[in-house]
Amino acid sequence: MKALMYHNISISPKEANLKSLYTNPSLFEAQVKLLKKLGYKSINSKDLKDFLEGRLKDDKYIIFTFDDAYVDVFENALPILKKYNFSAIIFVPAGLVGEYNRWDADRLNIKKPIASWDYMEKALKDSFEIGSHAIFHNPLTYLDTKSQIQEIHDSKKILEDKLGISINTFCYPYGDYDEDVVKIVENAGYDLAFSVNSGHIRAFDNPYTLKRLHMRHNTNLFRLLIKLSKLYA
Ligand SMILES: [Zn+2]
Repeated sequence: MKALMYHNISISPKEANLKSLYTNPSLFEAQVKLLKKLGYKSINSKDLKDFLEGRLKDDKYIIFTFDDAYVDVFENALPILKKYNFSAIIFVPAGLVGEYNRWDADRLNIKKPIASWDYMEKALKDSFEIGSHAIFHNPLTYLDTKSQIQEIHDSKKILEDKLGISINTFCYPYGDYDEDVVKIVENAGYDLAFSVNSGHIRAFDNPYTLKRLHMRHNTNLFRLLIKLSKLYA
């Protein structure tokens, strides 16, 4: 089982720092086409839970994940995924919907628009999933316990109230977590949480520190094949 981690699906603007976060839409489509050709299928978070608990046998399963819920993902990536019949989970910083990447806009020298509720509602209609990426994208281990609980519990509630669905997946901002943070995520009622630890997902892995494969600006098809191979298992 493999989960892919993306951020922006667009051509990186000249002035932007950290261009590794951007995947060119034409490369993205080539990756999706390749996965289709290789026989990969999407599964949703419920199936992933079944897999982790030993109720679903491993197969050529792939989970697309997008951190930060940028507008470019909704405009450029989701139509391609829909065309090839793949689903995805989009992780939303619940306090910054319709705003921009306040947490790193200065450092990256660019304001990247985050999708509005309308975009999310449309994505849900198209069977994509929404997960929580906390409220303000703070690194959770740097916060006191009260703020950690707020970020983790309240982001779930904000998304559930606004979108009228249950939110079962969480993604740690900056991939930053420790034992206490994991416990709070579990107690908040999430079923699964994604980290930025690199690798494939195996049955009976900890459901709250799930690994992903990092998709960067230079992840060409050859590099993607390597990530899918046993080298990363
Ligand atoms: Zn993020």
